[in-house]
Amino acid sequence: MTSKFYFVKRMINEKRAKIFCSISAFSLLVIVGGVILPIDSTGKCYSQEKTYPEYGIYDTDLLPSSFFKSNREKVMKSIGDSAVAIFYAGSERIRNNDVQYKYRQGDDFFYLTGCSEPNSLLILAPKGIMVVDSTGVHRTKEVLFVMPRDPSRESWTGKRLGPQGAKEALGFDAALPNKEFKKYFLQSLNVAKVTYIPLPSEGMEGNILEFINEIKKAELQYNSRVEFRDPTPLVREMRQVKSPEELAVIERAAQISANAHRAVIIACKQGMYEYQLQAIFEYSSEMQGAEYVAYPCIDGSGENSTIFHYETNRRQMKDGDVVVMDCGCEYHNYASDITRTIPVSGKFSQPQLEIYNIVLAAHDSAVSAMRPRVNYYMTVSQKAVKVIQDGLLRLGIIKDKDEYGKFFNHGLGHPLGLDVHDVWTNGVLRSGEVWTVEPGIYIPANSPGVDPKYWNIGIRIEDDILITDDGHKNITDSVPVEPKEIEKLMKK
Ligand code: CA
Repeated sequence: MTSKFYFVKRMINEKRAKIFCSISAFSLLVIVGGVILPIDSTGKCYSQEKTYPEYGIYDTDLLPSSFFKSNREKVMKSIGDSAVAIFYAGSERIRNNDVQYKYRQGDDFFYLTGCSEPNSLLILAPKGIMVVDSTGVHRTKEVLFVMPRDPSRESWTGKRLGPQGAKEALGFDAALPNKEFKKYFLQSLNVAKVTYIPLPSEGMEGNILEFINEIKKAELQYNSRVEFRDPTPLVREMRQVKSPEELAVIERAAQISANAHRAVIIACKQGMYEYQLQAIFEYSSEMQGAEYVAYPCIDGSGENSTIFHYETNRRQMKDGDVVVMDCGCEYHNYASDITRTIPVSGKFSQPQLEIYNIVLAAHDSAVSAMRPRVNYYMTVSQKAVKVIQDGLLRLGIIKDKDEYGKFFNHGLGHPLGLDVHDVWTNGVLRSGEVWTVEPGIYIPANSPGVDPKYWNIGIRIEDDILITDDGHKNITDSVPVEPKEIEKLMKK
């Protein structure tokens, strides 16, 4: 086992804000099932002065409470003094019987609070409302409602913030137990002409429904006097351009996924099962501190390489297959999204290489066009389409350029952020946005008029591209993409 320690300090986007981001990490090698995996285990993207073990908060690089506070302030500025806004946590979800999925906060609520607990609610009142909490009676513009501390519950499911923790760890001026939400909500309706409340999404479950039912009842009762509006478009627009703090977390997520992809490429060999590639990716990302995958891993080999969102991952891989590996981790709620396609045997066949090189050229052409003010849907996407059309025509796979959609039938990519498919924009790129670029060519068996040597070849290449003030930065380019480099890494 070798280990290496390095410490890097760098400034993120100097011109946008003077925020320093420190990355400290060490690499080590871990042996899993006879395969040596490089693991970068302790990189931190953002340093915070304090942890709060008394509230179950142990991470030292969470986004600072000032980030969430400034988001709340932007909402208040935008809705104006005669309005209030209510937001509520994402719902818990039952997996089966009494087992829940691991809880993950709703994006908009997280973006405004930093709060990761279910059954929490937020009132924003730009004009202020009077509250009575542990600091006495005071006027405040923002109140977070959270589950109260409860030693017997906490002995089962872990520590909670409680109102005191919400103030200390999340920087709220006022915080109350969530059972008091109704009282303050009704009070806020009495002072507001307009109330912003998100529409509940389909299939919400759990205790948050009690609060949503209270909200619905009040909406019926007050709708003659108060105008109700949905604040979601407002928050989604704010989320489009990422702050330097968010970019530091996204870059960390991207780095973790890139390291995990390298581990998978090194480990892959014929006879392994698709789920073993998934296992290595998940293991490697979690070893580096990622809490989740941003979406179920796609590891499609052979015939499954031509299925865009194949996630069964049960097939045994054979010599001569390519495997499309579209896997990304989520770190502190921010997503990353990388795809590499590799030959299971360690060497691309000639037909695989012919398709691969078209996709790679499409990827490179699209990425090279990315900079502020360029339109993603028109200019960037069209660059990739043109390369794919020309390539498929050259190989005789299509006879007319308009037929390319039979083999590249998805968009070029999408914005990336709290969601893997993050809030869409009008496509005109701005500094601080992150987009994926993921062209692909997929040729299923028995494709009419296509030489059988190309059947069952699916190739997709995807990187995460940060738009900078004067161009772009590929934040996932530490995973090899050139065929020779992939083959070299597979020999390791
Ligand atoms: Ca993607």
